[in-house]
Amino acid sequence: MANLTYIGTRDQSIKATASQAILRGICPDGGLYIPETIPHMEKSLEELSKLSYRELAFEVLSLFLDFTDEELRACIDGAYDEKFDTAEIAPLVQKGDAFFLELYHGRTLAFKDMALSILPYFMKTAAKREGIDKEIVILTATSGDTGKAALEGFAGVEGTKIIVFFPEDGVSPVQKLQMTTQEGDNTCVVGILGNFDDAQSAVKSIFTDKELGEELARQGYLFSSANSINIGRLIPQIVYYFRAYLDAVKQGALNMGEEINFAVPTGNFGDILAGWYAMKMGLPVGHFVCASNDNKVLYDFFCSGTYDRNRQFHVTVSPSMDILISSNLERLLCHMTGQQATKEDMAKLSEEGKYSVEITEKKISGEFATEPETYAAIKKFFGETGYVMDTHTAVAYAAYQKYKGESKDTRPMVIVSTASPYKFTKDVMMALDEKYASEDAFALMHVLEKLSGVSIPEPIRGIENRTILHNNVCERDKIKDFVKRYLL
Ligand SMILES: *Cc1c(COP(=O)(O)O)cnc(C)c1O
Repeated sequence: MANLTYIGTRDQSIKATASQAILRGICPDGGLYIPETIPHMEKSLEELSKLSYRELAFEVLSLFLDFTDEELRACIDGAYDEKFDTAEIAPLVQKGDAFFLELYHGRTLAFKDMALSILPYFMKTAAKREGIDKEIVILTATSGDTGKAALEGFAGVEGTKIIVFFPEDGVSPVQKLQMTTQEGDNTCVVGILGNFDDAQSAVKSIFTDKELGEELARQGYLFSSANSINIGRLIPQIVYYFRAYLDAVKQGALNMGEEINFAVPTGNFGDILAGWYAMKMGLPVGHFVCASNDNKVLYDFFCSGTYDRNRQFHVTVSPSMDILISSNLERLLCHMTGQQATKEDMAKLSEEGKYSVEITEKKISGEFATEPETYAAIKKFFGETGYVMDTHTAVAYAAYQKYKGESKDTRPMVIVSTASPYKFTKDVMMALDEKYASEDAFALMHVLEKLSGVSIPEPIRGIENRTILHNNVCERDKIKDFVKRYLL
């Protein structure tokens, strides 16, 4: 059990235990919780390399959580079981000039399962520790993958309700059906007439609305978040960076102790930040490539030190990265510049849409891939290796190629592979051959199966024939009203 204190990114006097931070999701002033100090991994890499995924998860998570060993083991055993279609949970696959860390073997075929299959267990444990008897209402904004992974995690979990907001016209057909066919009496799915940033801003403002919070508390409800603003989402993601490193050593890519690189397809900056925490805990990482699509606000930030969201929003073929306000960057900023500066910069971001800082972290750099570059990467890599990447993974791979050319860095590269190609079948197939443009996304799954030799994953087989159970649509400025009506 760790006695780690969590503090706010905008005010260090805001303090919480891990359980409190997980239940609250966000600080009362709108800031995010960060660990006061990042714990060091005391066990040696040699020792860790002997562990299974679950045992490794225990070693990492116990440094961050205030749970007893028994509580933590129960969380881990409940989450990382046969829900994953591979015993390794997060296999590392060597193809061409890279290693692919396949994080999409869970129920919803995206890396969000890695954290969202354990978050409900964290919340129940935290609620028990804190003596909370209220019903926990999870509010979630999604760019496509978080929503389904959160629904899958919380559906049927006693003492919880979950409401998911997704951009009605900004997700793939499979993503949409995955959410609108979700079963479970405690689930609610809403399409909003806006984009992810609209949904995320509305949800954040509900969390910090004191009046609404008090009204709901009287009715026996407590809000929390399943978005990566919740520290309970980030911590489980640290584990697979250790796993990837140890597996790459096992596969002979490098010697224990030498440095490895990661390319991470980035949206809200949660995944890559977990990798950065792993490095701060002692994992030998040489460099992180923060990969963006056409919404390259982070690329510009890492080049210039100026974060500027005043720009056109692009709906792309990698929709889970279509984000202009990367919430978790606030955590990195706070680690770099402290609470006072972060508070000022976040105020500037909300008022003027931009701020500038001096970037002192040199181990992260930005790259981006346009849509044609993403398509070309999928096609070329399939031609060379027979391996099919999804559109998000392909953004990271294309970014890696640019980084390699510019930096001449020869350390081994892990491409953090965030989704199954089946989740974005239509775009993946169009990348392979334009002739598929006119064909049905669901029929194409069978073509992809033949081409790739990878079976259609069980959770989405026949999804086009399932009954739609959710058809709520909501204006972006009516999200709060919707929540009130639904709960009160
Ligand atoms: C959420 C998501 C991302 C972006 O991850 P962040 O933690 O938000 O940066 C990338 N790829 C896929 C497939 C995703 O679902």
